[in-house]
Amino acid sequence: MITRESIQNKFKSIFKEEPIIVRSPGRINIIGEHTDYNDGFVLPAAIDKAVYIAVSKRNDDLISLYAEDYKATYEVELNRIAPSDLQWPNYILGVVDQIQKRGLNVGGFNLYIDGDVPLGAGLSSSAAVECATTLALSELFELHIERLEIPKIGQMAEHTYAGVKCGIMDQFASTFGKKDHVLKLDCRSLAYEYVPLILDGYTIILLNTNVKHALGDTAYNKRVEQCKKAIDWIKEKYPDVVNMRDVSVAMLDEMVKNKDAEVYTKTRFVVEESERVHEACEHLKAGNLIALGQNLLASHHGLSQEYEVSCDESDYLVDFTKQFPQVLGARQMGGGFGGCTINIVKDDFVEQFIAQVSPPYFSKFGKELTIIQVKTDDGTSVL
Ligand code: ADP
Ligand code: MG
Repeated sequence: MITRESIQNKFKSIFKEEPIIVRSPGRINIIGEHTDYNDGFVLPAAIDKAVYIAVSKRNDDLISLYAEDYKATYEVELNRIAPSDLQWPNYILGVVDQIQKRGLNVGGFNLYIDGDVPLGAGLSSSAAVECATTLALSELFELHIERLEIPKIGQMAEHTYAGVKCGIMDQFASTFGKKDHVLKLDCRSLAYEYVPLILDGYTIILLNTNVKHALGDTAYNKRVEQCKKAIDWIKEKYPDVVNMRDVSVAMLDEMVKNKDAEVYTKTRFVVEESERVHEACEHLKAGNLIALGQNLLASHHGLSQEYEVSCDESDYLVDFTKQFPQVLGARQMGGGFGGCTINIVKDDFVEQFIAQVSPPYFSKFGKELTIIQVKTDDGTSVL
């Protein structure tokens, strides 16, 4: 288990200094998939798996990084930073670049990184690295970076140094998450509301398919294009519409349905998924977990059959849960084509559920299923 002490000791053994240590969590998203880049709503929560960054100042202009997961060092001079062929330093260097672009001064520093967010599983370990790095450098060099700037710096770092044109949900959830709550985030205004997550006898279980289909990036970009296309058509009659956030099913029926059946199906999913975020919030507030579970299943049906961003592994896992009344709902979480499914499972059924789902998954796909039990937790903080 990673603790403040374990990070501190490791840092001291490598860099012989006393560090500042920051923790930033990964995240789940209860519902609201592909709504973030459409300026809509999402419902994420920070989790009890996090990235830890420890830093200390240096007397020279060197950035010296050590990643525990890779047992690797990376060094570069402050005025020579650029995206590296190694992927892992980019999430850190991209943050340094963003901080410098804001005219803030950082000097040379040592940095140690460790964490227990599974990498590349759709729990946003990358956003956790960016947010932890931002706060750590802000503390170390007394930059007084405002809290709302942390996700923005993280998102820009990811765009520029990791080459992923992500929305802001992941960095926002990592920064502003709150234990026992989900965040209802308006991706347009960045206004947010905390909604209590009272699971009352139920637990959130993630099933990591351990696949990430290569098709993902191309299909993702295609969906972004299809949403833009629908907006262009709708604007011919409704010039105030900026993006899918402003669109109703009636508008799609009128302006898109007869032009392109595929674009119609895709964009109707986005509108309906947005409505499901609002519904899910109301169900959470009313303590109606059964209705919330139905929202999750409807979301997965849309992701799979309408938006077409699922895969056999995710579909199999979601279908498998339907035989158990103790599992209230399940869906694929994240951009698509693999990653984790999120499941709401009755506490006293968890062991049985895990025992029953793993063997058939292995015999069907020849891959191990990784089970991750998560609780909600607080956002980015100094330890
Ligand atoms: P996700 O954000 O869903 O976990 P990404 O592919 O966006 O998946 O980001 C994963 C990448 O982030 C890793 O491949 C690695 O480069 C970087 N990363 C995340 N956590 C760590 C860590 N603890 N140490 C070093 N690099 C990390
Ligand atoms: Mg990521």
